[in-house]
Amino acid sequence: MPTAAMPGSLPLTSAPPGSYPDRMKHFLTLACTSIPLLVLAGCGDGSGKGPEPGPVPVAPTENLDRDILSTGLALDVTAMTGEATIELAPADKPGASFEVAGLVVQSVEDTSGPLEYAVQDGRLDIGVKESAENTTLQIKYTYTTQKAFDGYLAEGLTFLWPRFCGNLFPCKSVPSEGVTFEIALSGVPMGKEAVFPAAIPADAPTYMPAFALGEYTHVALGTTTAGTKVGVYHLPGEEAAAAEGTKDLAAVFDWLEKTYGAYSFGGEVASVSAEWGPGAYGGMEHHPYWHIAREAMNDPVTHAHEAAHGWFGNGVRIACWEDFVLSEGTVSYLAARALEAVGGQAVGEKVWSDYQAELDAVIQDQDTVLMLDTCNTIDLITHPLWSNVTYMKGAFFYRAVEAQVGRDKLDAALEKFYGTYKNRAARMQDMIDTIEAETGADISVHVDGWLKGLGKP
Ligand SMILES: [Zn+2]
Repeated sequence: MPTAAMPGSLPLTSAPPGSYPDRMKHFLTLACTSIPLLVLAGCGDGSGKGPEPGPVPVAPTENLDRDILSTGLALDVTAMTGEATIELAPADKPGASFEVAGLVVQSVEDTSGPLEYAVQDGRLDIGVKESAENTTLQIKYTYTTQKAFDGYLAEGLTFLWPRFCGNLFPCKSVPSEGVTFEIALSGVPMGKEAVFPAAIPADAPTYMPAFALGEYTHVALGTTTAGTKVGVYHLPGEEAAAAEGTKDLAAVFDWLEKTYGAYSFGGEVASVSAEWGPGAYGGMEHHPYWHIAREAMNDPVTHAHEAAHGWFGNGVRIACWEDFVLSEGTVSYLAARALEAVGGQAVGEKVWSDYQAELDAVIQDQDTVLMLDTCNTIDLITHPLWSNVTYMKGAFFYRAVEAQVGRDKLDAALEKFYGTYKNRAARMQDMIDTIEAETGADISVHVDGWLKGLGKP
C-alpha cells in the first residue's frame, strides 16, 4: 500500500459514477498480463489457442486466522456497490473468512481468477489455498443502508463501531486486527462532498475507516510543528459552533504529537460534523477525519477526545473489547490534559469538574469493574463496559496515578507505551506494566480501586 498521505475529500467531478479507481485497473491488468496461463475471464494468453486449464479449485474453507494486511475499497455510494481488494499475509492453512453480515457477495477472485466461496451466518468463507507469499483477493458486493448506527446510515455517513465493519466491507471486526486502507468513492450526489481518507497508511482497527457525505465547508485550523495539517469540516449553519469547538484543536494536536509521539494516520486530519440526528452527542474516532455529533460541534472536549484516539484506541489498538478502558479512559484523561496544556489551568479545572459530575451521575446505577480477565468474549454493545463509567473511572485512574508519580513521569510512561505498541494491539495490563516499569512506582492501589473495584476509591 502507498504510504503517502492523500487528500481526504473527493470532489464530485473527480471520480465519475461506476468508474474503477486506478488501483482496480492495475489489479485487472496485472491479472491478465503476468499470469497468462491461468484461466481468467476476458484474458487470453495471446497465442490464439485459448486459455490452458486452470488450477484445481479449493473448496470454501472457514479460516478466521488469516491476517489481513490491507484493504482497498472502491465504493459507489449511489449504486451501493463495493469492490474490496484484500491483501492477506502468508499462511500455512487454506481458506480465508470474513464478516459480511450486511453484504451481498457477487464474486470473489484472486489474481489467477474466480475462487469458490460460500456465505453462511454472515460469514464469507473463501476457497483460497495456503501461500508462502501474500495473497490478493478481490471481492465484489453490494451493501445496504443500516438503521441502528451499524453501517452506512441514511443520513449519508458510516458508523462501524464496534463490530459492524461487515455491513460495509468484508472484514474481521476483532479490535486486535490491524489493517491499512485505501478508499475511493464514486457516485457522490450532486452538491455534496465526500469526506474520507484516500489512504490510512498504518495498521488501524477495522471500525476506524469512514466516509461522510454532506454540504461540507472545510476550515483550515493550522499546521502542527510536525507538519500535520489540522482542520474542521462543518455543515451549513455550524460556522460559529465549529469555531468555538475547534479554536484550540491544532494546538491540542501539536501537544499530543510533541508529548506522546508522531501521529501515524497521515499528514492531514480534521474533525467532521456528523449528521447523527437529534439527541446524538459525542464523537467517533474515525481517524484521520473523526466524526463529531452536530450537537457537540461547539464542545472542545469532544474534539480533543476524538483527536487523542489517534494515539490510544486507534494508534495503539485494544487487543480485546474487555480493554475498552485503555481506549476511552486514556483519551478522556488526555482530553483534559491537552486542553489544560493549551488553554491554561482554569480550562483543565473546568474539564475535571465536569468529569466529576459525570462520574458521580453515572456511578450511581451503572458502575462496573473495568478490567476483566477474558478477551473478546463479551459483546460490548450490551455489556456494562459500554457506558460513561469506563470513560470517567478510567480518566480518574490516570489522574490518581499522575498525583502519585508526577505529571512528567506519567507522560514519559505514556510516550513509552505508545512508542512500544504503536500500530499494534495491547491490553490495559500492558499499560499498567509500562507505567510501573517506567516510573518505578507501585500503582496497584489505583488499579485495584479504579479499574478492578466498584465505587469511587
Ligand atoms: Zn472515545
